Amino acid sequence: MSEVPPVHVLFWFDVEDYLTPESDDALLGLLDCFERQGVQGTWKVVAEKARVLEERGREDVIRALQRQDIGYHTDTHSQHPVLAEYLRSAGWEDGVEEIIRRERPGYEDTVRILGPSSTFGQAGGSWAPQIYPFMRDAGIPLFMDEASHIGLDGAPFWYCNVPHINRLETRVTRMDFEAGEKGLRQGIGRFDEIHRDVVDDGGGLISIYYHPCEFATLAFWDGVNFARGQQPPRPQWKPAPLRGAQQMAAGLELFDRYLGHIVAQPGVEVLTGRQLLNLLPDNAADRVFSIAELADMLTFSSGAIEHRFVDADTVLAPSEIFALVVEALLQIMLTITDEETENSADTALDLTQIRVVVGQDTPLGPVHRQATTLQPDAPLASDQLLEAAIDVDRYLQHHGRMPDAIWLGSEAIAPADFLITAADLLRKMAAAQRSRQVTLPSTIPLRTGHLDSERHVHDDVWNWVVFAKDFDAPGLIELARLQAWTLKPALLHYG
Ligand SMILES: [Zn+2]
Repeated sequence: MSEVPPVHVLFWFDVEDYLTPESDDALLGLLDCFERQGVQGTWKVVAEKARVLEERGREDVIRALQRQDIGYHTDTHSQHPVLAEYLRSAGWEDGVEEIIRRERPGYEDTVRILGPSSTFGQAGGSWAPQIYPFMRDAGIPLFMDEASHIGLDGAPFWYCNVPHINRLETRVTRMDFEAGEKGLRQGIGRFDEIHRDVVDDGGGLISIYYHPCEFATLAFWDGVNFARGQQPPRPQWKPAPLRGAQQMAAGLELFDRYLGHIVAQPGVEVLTGRQLLNLLPDNAADRVFSIAELADMLTFSSGAIEHRFVDADTVLAPSEIFALVVEALLQIMLTITDEETENSADTALDLTQIRVVVGQDTPLGPVHRQATTLQPDAPLASDQLLEAAIDVDRYLQHHGRMPDAIWLGSEAIAPADFLITAADLLRKMAAAQRSRQVTLPSTIPLRTGHLDSERHVHDDVWNWVVFAKDFDAPGLIELARLQAWTLKPALLHYG
């Protein structure tokens, strides 16, 4: 352990203005600042920007970017239809395929021109949960942004198998270069304040982000061309209004001093998205539980389901708990079958040998919300519940996600109700194990659960200037809520 708590500062840039050539110079100016200070940022580049840098012969910018950490910021960013527009009515699998169809060629262009990406960041407010299978398919491991759709109390989190730096809330800052020396003074003051808070907390992250085009232009390039759902014909696309070379140089000079101040702080390390991944291992994979250990964790007394800490270093997402419970039911069923064949007498079960293991990947959540067809407290046959686990286990293996419903014959049980009810059964059996008198209760009353993690998904989020004024995408928010089964804190591990 080091004596000074580690404070890691993430600088990330959305490199997107492909219509204003002067923004290339702002980008180069910022890259120069990082080279001078001997540190790296994460530069999330729009594929069209990478392509125009190539077309404009900006080898200088491309080379400088290659020496930094690269992220991907969509193929064309704000051209309609943007991602949330073309996915507005999509389901899960068709949505995933459509993102791959539209985004994969652009991503391959950025790989060819700049190298592979550590990070994905969405274009403006244009987000959909179907991006995560695309990211995994493309091999982009991290999501880093300050987008409004989902956050976990200002801390890093896992969602859909992807670690997120998003909505860090009080740990996000920036310096207002437009306010000149006063802006720099205030920016440094604010950084120092957050730095002290992070040190008091024993270490953590600070997130700082800009768009390089901000230093070159007075307005965003996409607001000028694509605001409120508009898309003029390509020949009419125009660059953003310029600040002018002198103002741009002044802004860059202030940024250089801001960065210099941060780099000089003792205990502060400027970190890229790629480097951060080393601090965010998911310790849950391969974790082994006995029935008693699993039952201890299943304390959803009010029916509210959320992630659970196993210890200070390991946390399970609700879908991981669901998969463990399914595996436990399956193993209990196998134990019963074995014992029945060995002796016909009605002897007590021995569950002490059963072990269940967390998988490598967090199962995704269901993709439709399906209600339970039985009434609460209806008595469920325990052996039917165990049998249902066979099919659920196969579903998890086949689809890599939770089923929309668990079938007891023709009756559907919603996953949250199934988890809470099965948790009751497991707790009962684990308690009986302690007194060495385990038998399978013939019935277990159906209980009602709900995924409390859904509260971290926000719905009033479609207010990006590029969307039409009345744009809404409730279907995407519903899918996002269902995927909250995968939500859990991403814990920083300082080795
Ligand atoms: Zn952007």
